[in-house]
Amino acid sequence: TSTAAIPKLTIKVVFLGESAVGKSSIVLRFVSDDFTESREPTIGAAFLTKRTTRDGNTIKFEIWDTAGQERFAPLAPMYYRNAQAAVVVFDITNEHSFHKAEDWVKELHEKAGNDIVIALVANKMDLLNVQGTILDEAVNEEEVDSFCQREGLLYFKASAKTGENIHEIFQTVGEKIPYSK
Ligand code: GDP
Repeated sequence: TSTAAIPKLTIKVVFLGESAVGKSSIVLRFVSDDFTESREPTIGAAFLTKRTTRDGNTIKFEIWDTAGQERFAPLAPMYYRNAQAAVVVFDITNEHSFHKAEDWVKELHEKAGNDIVIALVANKMDLLNVQGTILDEAVNEEEVDSFCQREGLLYFKASAKTGENIHEIFQTVGEKIPYSK
């Protein structure tokens, strides 16, 4: 019998962030290398898994993709209290979604375990690269950089649509989690 598929490490990751910033799309891109323009909002939370390798070992991600709507916010602690990592997502074209992300990071610092690895993801970077697009709502990237430094966050600029940096999010987060956990 083969033991190759038995993970040496299982990493629970929770996705947090405002509705429609692209959490489900990031997870879909990572798990199935797929993208769709029209997606149904997640109800409550969705659970997906994905195996990858690190140093020749199988590692398994258990991903909780939480719903972004306000009415589901009280459920979030159930997911992040059990997680080794939290990925907080905002939409680079939507200032409000960045302020929601700041709120999530504060909540994680106050209520999640001290060891939790937190990554901030600016999603929909592809929209910034569209020539001639006028984005009144676009987030000030210097503001984001200083927030990440202050809070000690991993930071990724990504696009679920193009796939830019999606694997890097999981790879970098995964590398922060020791095998003993
Ligand atoms: P969630 O509510 O945070 O899980 O967001 P979804 O994954 O459902 O995405 C909301 C909408 O944004 C959908 O129409 C997606 O197709 C779109 N979307 C998600 N990621 C991207 C991206 O990187 N670029 C662009 N242009 N659209 C995206």
